[in-house]
Amino acid sequence: MSAEVSAGAGQERSARSLLELQGVVMRFGGVTALKDVSFTINEGEIFALIGPNGAGKTTIFNVITGVYQPTEGQVRFEGEKISGVKRFKITKRGIARTFQNIRLFHNMTAIENVMVGADAHHRSGMVSVALGLPWHRKAEREGRALAMELLDFVGISHRADDHAKNLPYGDQRRLEIARALATQPKLLLLDEPAAGMNPAEKVALQQLIRDIRDAGRTILIIEHDMSLIMGISDRIAVLDFGQKIADGLPDEVRNDPRVVEAYLGAPADAS
Ligand code: ADP
Ligand code: MG
Repeated sequence: MSAEVSAGAGQERSARSLLELQGVVMRFGGVTALKDVSFTINEGEIFALIGPNGAGKTTIFNVITGVYQPTEGQVRFEGEKISGVKRFKITKRGIARTFQNIRLFHNMTAIENVMVGADAHHRSGMVSVALGLPWHRKAEREGRALAMELLDFVGISHRADDHAKNLPYGDQRRLEIARALATQPKLLLLDEPAAGMNPAEKVALQQLIRDIRDAGRTILIIEHDMSLIMGISDRIAVLDFGQKIADGLPDEVRNDPRVVEAYLGAPADAS
């Protein structure tokens, strides 16, 4: 169990496609939240999704994770179509996420929140754990050890027994990441993980995201903090009014006139 966080460490970056969105359209009644969005994320990449509020970024996460089924188009993961597949099955295939609005079990401790995340994956079940049967006690011990390792990995193991609601905001965001990692995802989706963090926390987050990638995971991140995004992303896609208006290397995107006009809104040398 102990090697799970670092499984795949040191692997060379490949150009193998992990996730593909192909012509995704998402309509809610009269609102078209996504208009023919296509992009490909390669294994081992940190891929960023940026754009103004309401552009459709979170909707893309909801489509990828099976919360919504796209009106048109499809999502493929490891070459297989996953749009239309049930949410828990998508989790099992190796996609996990955090939420723009933090979703923790506030009256559970930090470590329990992570263990619930792992349970959702392994389906060992809280009920059977509660029965206290020997093999479940062993499973629980192992689950607890793995959860502790993940808390340590995200830097909040000293908070393991604190209720989630009592953690500072930045630590709650880290806890959400630990919980998502408990499902051992191949692809981790982070929805505005730096929101509400102070500058020092943002620097630490940047390193954490690199560490997660170096541990063999692929990352799709939505974030407004441009210095963070430019600092860690391999590639960036820009969304505006549900449409992808750019997709490329950080420098290409930063200097793209459409992106500057729609989103960055400032001279490209503002960094
Ligand atoms: P972003 O994350 O880029 O700020 P969202 O993906 O949250 O944007 O929202 C994009 C658009 O889709 C918004 O206009 C939003 O109101 C709309 N939208 C998202 N989810 C729903 C829904 N379930 N029902 C109706 N409209 C929705
Ligand atoms: Mg959003």
